[in-house]
Amino acid sequence: MSCSEEVTLGKILFWFIIIVAVLFGARLLARSTSKVERAAPLPKDGKVPPDMHSAEAMVRCHQCGIHLPRSEAYLSNGKTWCGPEHARLGQSSSGSS
Ligand SMILES: [Zn+2]
Repeated sequence: MSCSEEVTLGKILFWFIIIVAVLFGARLLARSTSKVERAAPLPKDGKVPPDMHSAEAMVRCHQCGIHLPRSEAYLSNGKTWCGPEHARLGQSSSGSS
C-alpha cells in the first residue's frame, strides 16, 4: 500500500525536524550558558586579589603614626587610621579643607 509508505515518510520527516530543532535549541542553550560563565569570573578592576597583598600591606595611622595591617586598619576619607576614634580625631584636627 502506498498509503502506509507516505505515513512512514511523514514520520521520518517529523522526527528529522524534531531532532534538528532539539540540536539547534541545545546549541543556543550551550552558547548562552557559556556566555554567562565567561562573563562571571573576573571583576573589571584588574586588581590583584586582596589575599596576596593584605598580608604584607602595612598602613599608618594618620593620628598616632602606628603601623598596622591594612585589613585591620580603619579607612575613612581615603586615609587610614588605627581605629574609628583616631579617624574622628584626625579629621577634626586637620579641619575640612
Ligand atoms: Zn591611631
